[in-house]
Amino acid sequence: MTVLVTGGAGFIGSAVVRALIRTRPVTVVNVDKLTYAGNLDSLADVADDPRYRFERVDICDAAEVRRLFEQYEPDAVLHLAAESHVDRSIDGPGAFVETNIVGTFTLLQEARRYWTRLGGFNRERAERFRFLHVSTDEVFGSLGPEGFFTEETAYDPSSPYSATKAGSDHLVRAWQRTYGLPCLITNCSNNYGPCQFPEKLIPLVTLNALAGEPLPVYGRGENVRDWLYVDDHADAILTVLEHGRAGETYAVSGENEQRNIDVVRAICALVDELAPDAGIGPREALIRFVADRPGHDQRYAIDATKIRRELGWQPRETFETGLRRTVAWYLEQRGWWERVRSGGYRGERLGLGAR
Ligand code: NAD
Repeated sequence: MTVLVTGGAGFIGSAVVRALIRTRPVTVVNVDKLTYAGNLDSLADVADDPRYRFERVDICDAAEVRRLFEQYEPDAVLHLAAESHVDRSIDGPGAFVETNIVGTFTLLQEARRYWTRLGGFNRERAERFRFLHVSTDEVFGSLGPEGFFTEETAYDPSSPYSATKAGSDHLVRAWQRTYGLPCLITNCSNNYGPCQFPEKLIPLVTLNALAGEPLPVYGRGENVRDWLYVDDHADAILTVLEHGRAGETYAVSGENEQRNIDVVRAICALVDELAPDAGIGPREALIRFVADRPGHDQRYAIDATKIRRELGWQPRETFETGLRRTVAWYLEQRGWWERVRSGGYRGERLGLGAR
Protein backbone atom coordinates (compact mmCIF):
# COMPACT_ATOMS: atom_id res chain seq x y z
CA MET A 1 0.00 0.00 0.00
CA THR A 2 1.07 3.56 -0.67
CA VAL A 3 -0.19 6.44 1.43
CA LEU A 4 0.24 10.03 0.29
CA VAL A 5 0.45 12.39 3.27
CA THR A 6 0.20 16.13 2.63
CA GLY A 7 1.81 18.42 5.20
CA GLY A 8 3.98 15.57 6.47
CA ALA A 9 6.76 17.95 7.55
CA GLY A 10 4.39 19.80 9.92
CA PHE A 11 3.64 19.12 13.57
CA ILE A 12 0.83 16.57 13.21
CA GLY A 13 1.80 15.39 9.72
CA SER A 14 5.26 14.35 10.92
CA ALA A 15 3.68 12.38 13.78
CA VAL A 16 1.42 10.64 11.23
CA VAL A 17 4.36 9.83 8.93
CA ARG A 18 6.40 8.45 11.85
CA ALA A 19 3.43 6.36 13.02
CA LEU A 20 2.82 4.97 9.52
CA ILE A 21 6.46 4.00 8.98
CA ARG A 22 6.80 2.48 12.44
CA THR A 23 3.53 0.58 12.65
CA ARG A 24 2.23 -0.16 9.13
CA PRO A 25 3.78 -2.03 6.18
CA VAL A 26 3.19 0.88 3.80
CA THR A 27 5.14 3.25 1.59
CA VAL A 28 4.66 6.87 2.62
CA VAL A 29 4.95 9.79 0.22
CA ASN A 30 5.30 13.01 2.17
CA VAL A 31 4.08 15.94 0.04
CA ASP A 32 5.02 19.26 1.60
CA LYS A 33 5.79 22.74 0.32
CA LEU A 34 8.03 23.41 3.35
CA THR A 35 6.55 26.71 4.43
CA TYR A 36 7.97 28.20 7.64
CA ALA A 37 5.99 25.47 9.50
CA GLY A 38 7.51 22.55 7.57
CA ASN A 39 10.58 21.05 9.19
CA LEU A 40 12.31 17.95 7.85
CA ASP A 41 14.28 17.67 11.12
CA SER A 42 11.05 16.27 12.62
CA LEU A 43 11.38 13.28 10.26
CA ALA A 44 15.02 12.45 11.02
CA ASP A 45 13.99 9.07 12.55
CA VAL A 46 12.34 7.83 9.35
CA ALA A 47 14.12 9.77 6.59
CA ASP A 48 16.40 6.87 5.67
CA ASP A 49 13.69 4.24 5.62
CA PRO A 50 13.31 2.80 2.10
CA ARG A 51 9.50 3.06 2.48
CA TYR A 52 9.67 6.85 2.95
CA ARG A 53 9.69 9.40 0.09
CA PHE A 54 9.69 13.17 0.23
CA GLU A 55 8.27 15.43 -2.48
CA ARG A 56 8.55 19.19 -2.12
CA VAL A 57 5.31 20.19 -3.83
CA ASP A 58 2.73 22.93 -3.30
CA ILE A 59 -0.74 21.36 -3.18
CA CYS A 60 -2.03 24.34 -5.20
CA ASP A 61 0.13 23.24 -8.15
CA ALA A 62 -2.27 21.03 -10.12
CA ALA A 63 0.33 19.75 -12.60
CA GLU A 64 2.67 18.63 -9.82
CA VAL A 65 -0.16 17.08 -7.80
CA ARG A 66 -1.26 15.19 -10.93
CA ARG A 67 2.29 13.92 -11.43
CA LEU A 68 2.32 12.61 -7.85
CA PHE A 69 -0.91 10.65 -8.32
CA GLU A 70 0.35 9.20 -11.62
CA GLN A 71 3.79 8.36 -10.29
CA TYR A 72 2.86 6.84 -6.92
CA GLU A 73 -0.69 5.52 -7.53
CA PRO A 74 -1.64 5.90 -3.85
CA ASP A 75 -4.21 3.78 -2.04
CA ALA A 76 -5.02 6.64 0.31
CA VAL A 77 -4.50 10.35 0.82
CA LEU A 78 -4.13 11.81 4.31
CA HIS A 79 -4.58 15.54 3.82
CA LEU A 80 -2.97 17.63 6.56
CA ALA A 81 -1.25 20.42 4.60
CA ALA A 82 -2.64 23.75 5.75
CA GLU A 83 -1.82 27.16 7.05
CA SER A 84 -2.65 26.52 10.68
CA HIS A 85 -1.85 29.46 12.97
CA VAL A 86 -4.84 31.66 13.92
CA ASP A 87 -2.73 34.78 14.66
CA ARG A 88 -1.07 34.57 11.25
CA SER A 89 -4.50 34.21 9.63
CA ILE A 90 -5.55 37.51 11.20
CA ASP A 91 -2.41 39.28 9.94
CA GLY A 92 -2.43 37.72 6.46
CA PRO A 93 -5.51 35.69 5.48
CA GLY A 94 -4.56 35.33 1.79
CA ALA A 95 -2.22 32.37 2.25
CA PHE A 96 -4.97 30.60 4.24
CA VAL A 97 -7.50 30.97 1.42
CA GLU A 98 -4.86 29.80 -1.04
CA THR A 99 -3.65 26.65 0.72
CA ASN A 100 -6.65 25.66 2.81
CA ILE A 101 -9.33 26.25 0.18
CA VAL A 102 -7.66 26.35 -3.25
CA GLY A 103 -5.10 23.70 -2.23
CA THR A 104 -7.80 21.34 -0.96
CA PHE A 105 -9.82 21.93 -4.14
CA THR A 106 -6.77 21.14 -6.29
CA LEU A 107 -6.05 17.98 -4.34
CA LEU A 108 -9.68 16.85 -4.57
CA GLN A 109 -9.81 17.43 -8.32
CA GLU A 110 -6.62 15.48 -8.95
CA ALA A 111 -7.65 12.72 -6.52
CA ARG A 112 -10.97 12.41 -8.33
CA ARG A 113 -9.30 12.29 -11.74
CA TYR A 114 -6.89 9.58 -10.57
CA TRP A 115 -9.60 7.61 -8.72
CA THR A 116 -11.97 7.69 -11.74
CA ARG A 117 -9.23 6.32 -14.00
CA LEU A 118 -8.29 3.71 -11.39
CA GLY A 119 -11.93 2.54 -11.35
CA GLY A 120 -11.67 1.93 -15.11
CA PHE A 121 -9.07 -0.81 -14.76
CA ASN A 122 -8.98 -1.83 -11.09
CA ARG A 123 -12.41 -1.53 -9.53
CA GLU A 124 -11.45 -3.24 -6.31
CA ARG A 125 -8.58 -0.85 -5.61
CA ALA A 126 -10.74 2.14 -6.49
CA GLU A 127 -13.37 0.95 -4.01
CA ARG A 128 -10.76 0.72 -1.27
CA PHE A 129 -9.29 4.17 -2.06
CA ARG A 130 -9.77 6.77 0.69
CA PHE A 131 -9.28 10.53 0.94
CA LEU A 132 -9.07 11.53 4.60
CA HIS A 133 -9.28 15.25 5.31
CA VAL A 134 -7.86 16.34 8.67
CA SER A 135 -9.77 19.28 10.08
CA THR A 136 -10.31 21.12 13.32
CA ASP A 137 -13.02 21.72 15.91
CA GLU A 138 -12.51 25.46 15.32
CA VAL A 139 -14.94 25.23 12.35
CA PHE A 140 -17.78 24.99 14.91
CA GLY A 141 -17.07 28.40 16.46
CA SER A 142 -17.24 29.05 20.16
CA LEU A 143 -19.07 27.29 22.99
CA GLY A 144 -20.44 28.90 26.15
CA PRO A 145 -19.83 27.22 29.50
CA GLU A 146 -22.19 24.32 28.62
CA GLY A 147 -22.37 21.71 25.88
CA PHE A 148 -20.02 19.99 23.44
CA PHE A 149 -19.27 19.91 19.73
CA THR A 150 -20.31 16.72 17.94
CA GLU A 151 -20.34 15.60 14.30
CA GLU A 152 -23.81 17.22 14.05
CA THR A 153 -22.82 20.71 15.24
CA ALA A 154 -23.52 23.49 12.72
CA TYR A 155 -20.49 25.31 11.30
CA ASP A 156 -19.88 28.81 12.69
CA PRO A 157 -16.19 29.71 12.24
CA SER A 158 -14.76 32.90 13.79
CA SER A 159 -11.25 33.40 12.38
CA PRO A 160 -9.87 33.44 8.83
CA TYR A 161 -8.13 30.17 9.75
CA SER A 162 -11.28 28.40 10.88
CA ALA A 163 -13.34 29.90 8.02
CA THR A 164 -10.92 28.49 5.45
CA LYS A 165 -10.85 25.11 7.19
CA ALA A 166 -14.68 25.15 7.18
CA GLY A 167 -14.56 25.91 3.45
CA SER A 168 -12.24 22.96 2.87
CA ASP A 169 -14.53 20.63 4.86
CA HIS A 170 -17.49 21.69 2.69
CA LEU A 171 -15.51 20.99 -0.47
CA VAL A 172 -14.55 17.51 0.73
CA ARG A 173 -18.17 16.70 1.60
CA ALA A 174 -19.32 17.97 -1.80
CA TRP A 175 -16.75 15.81 -3.64
CA GLN A 176 -18.03 12.82 -1.67
CA ARG A 177 -21.72 13.53 -2.30
CA THR A 178 -21.48 14.81 -5.88
CA TYR A 179 -18.73 12.65 -7.37
CA GLY A 180 -18.73 9.70 -4.96
CA LEU A 181 -15.04 10.17 -4.06
CA PRO A 182 -14.65 8.04 -0.90
CA CYS A 183 -13.85 10.73 1.67
CA LEU A 184 -13.61 10.88 5.45
CA ILE A 185 -13.29 13.95 7.66
CA THR A 186 -11.90 14.26 11.17
CA ASN A 187 -12.47 17.37 13.30
CA CYS A 188 -9.97 17.32 16.12
CA SER A 189 -9.41 19.50 19.16
CA ASN A 190 -6.13 21.29 20.04
CA ASN A 191 -3.01 19.15 19.76
CA TYR A 192 0.20 19.32 21.75
CA GLY A 193 3.39 17.29 21.83
CA PRO A 194 6.90 17.10 20.34
CA CYS A 195 7.84 18.98 17.15
CA GLN A 196 5.19 21.70 17.45
CA PHE A 197 6.34 25.02 16.02
CA PRO A 198 7.24 27.31 18.92
CA GLU A 199 4.67 29.98 18.03
CA LYS A 200 1.87 27.86 19.56
CA LEU A 201 0.92 28.13 23.22
CA ILE A 202 2.53 25.05 24.81
CA PRO A 203 5.98 25.14 23.15
CA LEU A 204 6.12 28.94 23.33
CA VAL A 205 5.43 28.98 27.06
CA THR A 206 7.82 26.07 27.68
CA LEU A 207 10.73 27.72 25.88
CA ASN A 208 10.10 31.18 27.31
CA ALA A 209 9.82 29.69 30.82
CA LEU A 210 13.10 27.85 30.31
CA ALA A 211 14.83 31.08 29.27
CA GLY A 212 13.20 33.21 32.00
CA GLU A 213 11.35 35.32 29.43
CA PRO A 214 7.81 36.74 29.79
CA LEU A 215 4.93 34.28 29.28
CA PRO A 216 2.25 36.10 27.25
CA VAL A 217 -1.33 34.97 27.94
CA TYR A 218 -4.29 36.38 26.02
CA GLY A 219 -6.98 38.24 28.03
CA ARG A 220 -7.21 36.72 31.50
CA GLY A 221 -6.33 33.21 30.30
CA GLU A 222 -9.95 32.09 30.78
CA ASN A 223 -10.32 30.58 27.28
CA VAL A 224 -10.87 26.84 27.41
CA ARG A 225 -9.30 24.35 24.99
CA ASP A 226 -9.70 20.57 24.79
CA TRP A 227 -6.16 19.13 24.49
CA LEU A 228 -5.07 15.92 22.77
CA TYR A 229 -1.54 14.49 22.63
CA VAL A 230 -0.32 14.48 19.02
CA ASP A 231 0.49 10.74 18.84
CA ASP A 232 -3.06 9.99 20.00
CA HIS A 233 -4.34 12.17 17.15
CA ALA A 234 -2.09 10.33 14.68
CA ASP A 235 -3.49 7.04 15.98
CA ALA A 236 -7.06 8.37 15.58
CA ILE A 237 -6.32 9.37 11.96
CA LEU A 238 -4.99 5.88 11.13
CA THR A 239 -7.96 4.28 12.91
CA VAL A 240 -10.42 6.36 10.87
CA LEU A 241 -8.52 5.61 7.65
CA GLU A 242 -8.61 1.86 8.27
CA HIS A 243 -11.98 1.40 9.95
CA GLY A 244 -14.07 4.54 9.31
CA ARG A 245 -16.97 4.50 6.86
CA ALA A 246 -16.51 6.60 3.71
CA GLY A 247 -18.72 9.68 3.80
CA GLU A 248 -18.57 9.91 7.59
CA THR A 249 -17.16 12.57 9.88
CA TYR A 250 -15.46 11.77 13.19
CA ALA A 251 -14.92 14.29 15.99
CA VAL A 252 -11.68 13.56 17.86
CA SER A 253 -10.53 14.75 21.26
CA GLY A 254 -9.00 13.74 24.56
CA GLU A 255 -12.12 15.09 26.31
CA ASN A 256 -9.71 17.09 28.38
CA GLU A 257 -10.72 20.72 28.90
CA GLN A 258 -8.24 23.18 30.36
CA ARG A 259 -8.26 26.94 30.82
CA ASN A 260 -5.22 28.51 29.13
CA ILE A 261 -4.03 29.95 32.42
CA ASP A 262 -4.07 26.49 34.02
CA VAL A 263 -2.05 25.07 31.12
CA VAL A 264 0.50 27.84 31.51
CA ARG A 265 0.73 27.27 35.28
CA ALA A 266 1.15 23.51 34.77
CA ILE A 267 4.02 24.14 32.32
CA CYS A 268 5.64 26.55 34.80
CA ALA A 269 5.52 23.87 37.51
CA LEU A 270 7.04 21.26 35.17
CA VAL A 271 9.84 23.55 33.99
CA ASP A 272 10.56 24.53 37.63
CA GLU A 273 10.80 20.83 38.48
CA LEU A 274 12.76 19.62 35.45
CA ALA A 275 15.01 22.66 34.89
CA PRO A 276 15.23 24.57 38.18
CA ASP A 277 17.08 27.87 37.91
CA ALA A 278 17.69 29.95 41.03
CA GLY A 279 18.46 33.00 38.87
CA ILE A 280 15.00 32.84 37.26
CA GLY A 281 12.96 31.70 40.29
CA PRO A 282 9.40 30.34 40.08
CA ARG A 283 8.27 30.65 36.44
CA GLU A 284 4.69 31.65 37.32
CA ALA A 285 6.04 35.12 38.08
CA LEU A 286 6.82 35.47 34.36
CA ILE A 287 3.13 35.35 33.33
CA ARG A 288 1.96 38.52 31.55
CA PHE A 289 -1.63 39.07 30.47
CA VAL A 290 -1.76 40.68 27.01
CA ALA A 291 -4.60 42.23 24.95
CA ASP A 292 -7.00 39.51 23.82
CA ARG A 293 -6.94 38.13 20.27
CA PRO A 294 -9.76 39.61 18.12
CA GLY A 295 -12.60 37.13 17.60
CA HIS A 296 -11.10 34.85 20.27
CA ASP A 297 -13.36 31.83 20.77
CA GLN A 298 -14.19 31.29 24.44
CA ARG A 299 -14.40 27.53 24.69
CA TYR A 300 -13.87 24.43 22.55
CA ALA A 301 -14.90 20.99 23.79
CA ILE A 302 -15.66 17.84 21.83
CA ASP A 303 -17.87 14.88 22.59
CA ALA A 304 -15.82 12.04 21.00
CA THR A 305 -18.37 9.29 21.67
CA LYS A 306 -18.71 8.31 17.98
CA ILE A 307 -15.04 7.47 17.32
CA ARG A 308 -14.74 5.79 20.72
CA ARG A 309 -17.87 3.64 20.32
CA GLU A 310 -17.83 2.89 16.59
CA LEU A 311 -14.10 2.54 16.02
CA GLY A 312 -12.85 1.65 19.51
CA TRP A 313 -10.28 4.46 19.50
CA GLN A 314 -9.14 6.00 22.75
CA PRO A 315 -6.21 8.21 23.71
CA ARG A 316 -3.28 6.67 25.55
CA GLU A 317 -2.00 9.81 27.23
CA THR A 318 -3.73 11.78 29.96
CA PHE A 319 -3.03 15.52 30.00
CA GLU A 320 -0.68 15.03 32.96
CA THR A 321 1.43 12.34 31.27
CA GLY A 322 1.31 14.00 27.86
CA LEU A 323 2.30 17.44 29.14
CA ARG A 324 5.19 16.01 31.15
CA ARG A 325 6.41 14.12 28.07
CA THR A 326 6.10 17.24 25.94
CA VAL A 327 7.93 19.59 28.30
CA ALA A 328 10.65 16.95 28.81
CA TRP A 329 10.99 16.61 25.01
CA TYR A 330 11.56 20.35 24.54
CA LEU A 331 14.09 20.37 27.36
CA GLU A 332 15.97 17.43 25.82
CA GLN A 333 15.69 18.40 22.15
CA ARG A 334 17.38 21.79 22.33
CA GLY A 335 18.93 21.21 18.89
CA TRP A 336 15.48 20.91 17.25
CA TRP A 337 14.08 24.19 18.51
CA GLU A 338 17.31 26.14 18.37
CA ARG A 339 17.45 25.40 14.63
CA VAL A 340 13.83 26.57 14.35
CA ARG A 341 14.41 29.75 16.31
CA SER A 342 17.58 30.60 14.40
CA GLY A 343 15.97 29.77 11.05
CA GLY A 344 18.71 27.17 10.48
CA TYR A 345 16.12 24.45 9.69
CA ARG A 346 15.34 26.31 6.46
CA GLY A 347 18.50 28.24 5.91
CA GLU A 348 17.16 31.64 6.98
CA ARG A 349 16.46 33.69 10.06
CA LEU A 350 12.94 34.12 11.39
CA GLY A 351 11.92 37.12 13.43
CA LEU A 352 9.90 35.13 15.96
CA GLY A 353 8.17 37.25 18.55
CA ALA A 354 6.55 35.94 21.70
CA ARG A 355 2.83 35.88 20.84
P1 NAD B 1 1.54 22.83 10.77
O1 NAD B 1 1.38 24.28 10.47
O2 NAD B 1 2.50 22.42 11.83
O3 NAD B 1 1.97 22.04 9.44
C1 NAD B 1 1.40 22.31 8.19
C2 NAD B 1 2.29 21.68 7.12
O4 NAD B 1 1.69 21.92 5.85
C3 NAD B 1 3.70 22.29 7.07
O5 NAD B 1 4.67 21.25 6.97
C4 NAD B 1 3.68 23.13 5.80
O6 NAD B 1 4.96 23.22 5.17
C5 NAD B 1 2.68 22.37 4.94
N1 NAD B 1 2.04 23.23 3.93
C6 NAD B 1 1.48 24.45 4.12
N2 NAD B 1 1.02 24.93 2.95
C7 NAD B 1 1.26 23.97 2.01
C8 NAD B 1 1.01 23.87 0.62
N3 NAD B 1 0.40 24.85 -0.06
N4 NAD B 1 1.39 22.74 -0.03
C9 NAD B 1 2.02 21.73 0.63
N5 NAD B 1 2.30 21.78 1.94
C10 NAD B 1 1.93 22.88 2.63
O7 NAD B 1 0.08 22.30 11.08
P2 NAD B 1 -0.40 21.16 12.10
O8 NAD B 1 -0.60 21.77 13.42
O9 NAD B 1 0.46 19.97 11.95
O10 NAD B 1 -1.83 20.83 11.49
C11 NAD B 1 -1.98 19.86 10.45
C12 NAD B 1 -3.45 19.78 10.07
O11 NAD B 1 -4.22 19.41 11.20
C13 NAD B 1 -4.02 21.09 9.56
O12 NAD B 1 -4.88 20.81 8.48
C14 NAD B 1 -4.78 21.64 10.75
O13 NAD B 1 -5.87 22.42 10.32
C15 NAD B 1 -5.25 20.36 11.41
N6 NAD B 1 -5.46 20.45 12.87
C16 NAD B 1 -4.50 20.98 13.69
C17 NAD B 1 -4.71 21.02 15.06
C18 NAD B 1 -3.66 21.55 16.00
O14 NAD B 1 -3.93 21.69 17.20
N7 NAD B 1 -2.44 21.82 15.55
C19 NAD B 1 -5.90 20.52 15.59
C20 NAD B 1 -6.85 19.98 14.73
C21 NAD B 1 -6.62 19.94 13.37
